[in-house]
Amino acid sequence: MILIENTRIIGFSPLSVSEPLDVIIDGAHIKEIGTGLAARYPQAEKISSPYISPGLVCSHNHFYSALARGLMAPVPPSKDFVQQLNNLWWRLDRALDADMIRASGIAGALHAIRHGVTAVIDHHASPNCIEGSLDHLAAGFELSGLRGVLCYETTDRYGNQGAEAGVAENIRFSKKTAHNPLLRGAIGAHAPFTVNNTVLALLTEAVRETGAGLHIHAAEDKFDAVHSRYQYGLDIVDRLERAEILSPKTIIAHGLYLTASEIETLNRHDAFLVHNARSNMNNHVGYNEALHLYKNVALGTDGIGSDMVTETICAFYKHRDAGGPLYMDTFLGMLWNGNELLNRYFPENKFGYIAPGYAADITFWDYEPPTPLIPENLMGHMAFGLSPAYISGTMIAGKLVMKNRTIQFDTATLLKETQNQARRLWKAMEAI
Ligand SMILES: [Zn+2]
Repeated sequence: MILIENTRIIGFSPLSVSEPLDVIIDGAHIKEIGTGLAARYPQAEKISSPYISPGLVCSHNHFYSALARGLMAPVPPSKDFVQQLNNLWWRLDRALDADMIRASGIAGALHAIRHGVTAVIDHHASPNCIEGSLDHLAAGFELSGLRGVLCYETTDRYGNQGAEAGVAENIRFSKKTAHNPLLRGAIGAHAPFTVNNTVLALLTEAVRETGAGLHIHAAEDKFDAVHSRYQYGLDIVDRLERAEILSPKTIIAHGLYLTASEIETLNRHDAFLVHNARSNMNNHVGYNEALHLYKNVALGTDGIGSDMVTETICAFYKHRDAGGPLYMDTFLGMLWNGNELLNRYFPENKFGYIAPGYAADITFWDYEPPTPLIPENLMGHMAFGLSPAYISGTMIAGKLVMKNRTIQFDTATLLKETQNQARRLWKAMEAI
């Protein structure tokens, strides 16, 4: 049993900050909240933190790209987004083998925990190592205690046989993890422009068979939207709806070029859009001007690490710069929404609040406000003071995996291995 003493609880939906309270954690769940709990639970391990919040969730990531940081391999310049996929990412994913995938998972998980992130929804690709790839990736989650929803990016880029292997890996992992306390599977696909109708039908079947949701990129670049209308005579979401694949577990990443009627369709199915502001800026694909039209928006990094605080700040400032109507509370609500995705993928648990019965997925903050912090001005502190520098601890399912800014296992040995595997990966890319 753990007692977090005299802490102020920050809520993101709605934005709130409590008076100092005690929180009792029993096993993987929050047991009780109140004052003077130390007297009632004298045996509990005591920890202190000036502030705590529900765990931060990264709702779209690619841990397979974790070894690309500082990449030293010749990458030809790209004139557009699809060329960039060809020149960089589709070469990198083809070079991945089991050891590199495992190292990617470890590198990604360490970065997430370091940034107070308690769960990552990942989208994995390794076309020359498909079967078992999600187990290799999951090793990093299991080793670190990170919560995750994993899937394989099914694609027809290497023919329908490659696609079938991708679907099979999604089904295998989803079934294997159906009752896992920390891991679940989704049904992954790269993007509509690399998913032909035969493959789409297989994906629908996989969604039906597993009860998991589709996790796919859509309209990240205008090309995807144009391709769908040219090739299939349908808008992307209309094509997905016709395939009967949409559900409340559907995760659509990006969606920059979806139309208002497509957004309405996604809303009708209670599906999620995941916005990845920094990735969109980095790839110069444009800006999602329609965030305010979606029922469910969550935030992701699309492979740019797992620092969700910086991601949220960038999403907010990019939106301000674009003259959008939303303010910081909405972006913190989007960040929080990752918890709602967890509620859908781990229905036996409750996520998103520091309250009795909820999963003990908690981010610790040692914020030192230089001006008075009261509930009425919390938004100003968030918009202009929020920083990953204040994250001091990460608890997942009641386990404190980072305490006082120190990850609670031997990271030096792990990082040596991830560096070795990164060197192997960069070398392998030279031949592709
Ligand atoms: Zn992505």
